[in-house]
Amino acid sequence: ANSLLSATGTTIFTVMSALAVQHGAINLGQGFPDSEGPADIVRAAADALLDGRNQYPPLTGLSELRDAVSAANRRFYGLEIDPASGVVVTSGATEAITASLMALLNPGDEVVLIEPLYDTYLPVVKLLGAVPKLVRLQPPFWELPRAELAASFGPNTKLLLLNSPMNPTGKVFTQEELAFIADLLRQHDAYAVCDEVYEHLVFSGARHVPLATLPGMDERSLRIGSAGKTFSLTGWKVGYVSGPAVLMGLVAKAHQNLTFTTPPNLQRAVAFGLAKPDSYFAALASGLQSQRDLLDAGLRRLGFSTLPAAGSYFITADFSPLGFEGDDVAFCRAVTEQAGVAAIPVSAFYANEAPRHYVRFAFCKQIPVLEEALRRLERWT
Ligand code: PMP
Ligand code: GLN
Repeated sequence: ANSLLSATGTTIFTVMSALAVQHGAINLGQGFPDSEGPADIVRAAADALLDGRNQYPPLTGLSELRDAVSAANRRFYGLEIDPASGVVVTSGATEAITASLMALLNPGDEVVLIEPLYDTYLPVVKLLGAVPKLVRLQPPFWELPRAELAASFGPNTKLLLLNSPMNPTGKVFTQEELAFIADLLRQHDAYAVCDEVYEHLVFSGARHVPLATLPGMDERSLRIGSAGKTFSLTGWKVGYVSGPAVLMGLVAKAHQNLTFTTPPNLQRAVAFGLAKPDSYFAALASGLQSQRDLLDAGLRRLGFSTLPAAGSYFITADFSPLGFEGDDVAFCRAVTEQAGVAAIPVSAFYANEAPRHYVRFAFCKQIPVLEEALRRLERWT
């Protein structure tokens, strides 16, 4: 059958994870932690399962989780969100992104996207009949080209999709960059869909600032979070969107037609998790920071030129100093098959004419696993 989805390939994460399994490679490709999330949160889900929390929950989410999302918005960012009308719980941030785009877009609307970009954005924008306007960050420091960004806005711009902290670059947008973006949104009366799944995974004193906290932006922003990332439980697929009631009513309608609800037992456990003390969130970030530092130093020792990563699960590395003959896709295939370490080609995060000498390594793995990966790379390089 031929449909709008015929042109969409299988996601690179699935392709590389399968190759990793086939070759017994350490999977530094797909971003998921190799240890369990907090035992008390998992226990809370198990208790909820045994406690009769197994029928359809309310469409927009369990009230205890909506309350917890609202409380987290206030606690971490000073944002006031009405738990009754300003939160929708979704099946992962993936659904939250699609629901938010469905809520706001009409066919023909223009959407500003920043490359490199997470792989679901473009297919969903296109599926909705909207028109992507791509702007590229400039490596190696992933600078925002301000003039180009301004030029990508026009009378048909409906929204900008912003991912900070960013996958795959690890970039955390600065307050100045956000202020520049906010000015453009105001001038063009446009919305922002903010993918902030890595909000709590920021390192070395970098600070995550939600765009919604800038003056006037709370009225025009949808902010997306993911329990998968915040609690190292990526398979749970519990996400949430928060924003102004007028927009959230539309997000709820999209959610109603996508999945309608999300497992109530997991929702209850996530509500419990969001109330964890500051020490939990600090330990999450500092643990990942140590893993990043180890992998970053190791890759540099082997001759890679790594790019700065202030947040997320990922480091991007330029492999050209190694003298490998071939592009990033060939490199990832070779490193998986020959070295036994899987990575993701960064060109997968571009619509076309991508740079071809960067690969993404996930560092959300236990220290001994990262050490073994580095030993394998050393034998191969
Ligand atoms: N956005 C980004 C930038 C991501 O990296 C991911 C997944 N790693 C998601 C959204 C999807 O999150 P979830 O697993 O909660 O659907
Ligand atoms: N977001 C994860 C990554 O970037 C993967 C999610 C997925 O496999 N779809 O690696």
